[in-house]
Amino acid sequence: MEIAIIAHDGKKAEMVQFLNEHKNFFHQTNIHLISTGTTGEKAEKAGFKVVKFLSGPLGGDAQIAGRVAEGKCDMVLFFRDPLAKHPHEPDIFMLMRLCDVHDVPLATNPSTAELLIKAI
Ligand code: PGA
Repeated sequence: MEIAIIAHDGKKAEMVQFLNEHKNFFHQTNIHLISTGTTGEKAEKAGFKVVKFLSGPLGGDAQIAGRVAEGKCDMVLFFRDPLAKHPHEPDIFMLMRLCDVHDVPLATNPSTAELLIKAI
C-alpha cells in the first residue's frame, strides 16, 4: 500500500509527531511511504523510509497527484496549514481534486489521518 505524506511548513512538526506516534503502522513492510521533498527529509531524519519527490512548491504535490491519477497511490495524508499562503495553491487543489476524482482517501489533518490508518 502506497501512502503519500505531505505537510506544509507550519505542520511538519505535527507530521513527524504523527509518524512517531504510529511507528508500528508505518514500519510495516507492506506500507510504502512517498512524500514531497522537505516533508520526506524530516520523515527520514525521524527514521522512516520514504521515496521523496520534488518539494511541494517545485511540483512535488503535482507529482503525487499524478500517482493518484495513475492509481499508484492508495492514500494521501496531507497536513495543510490553513493559516498560511502557498504559492503552489493550484497544485494543492489539483491533488485534492484528483483524490476525489479517483476516490482515494485523503486526510487533511491529524485527527482524520488517525481515523484512516486505524481503519486499515
Ligand atoms: P515540502 O512540500 O514537503 O517540500 O515542504 C509540501 C508542500 O508545501 O506542499
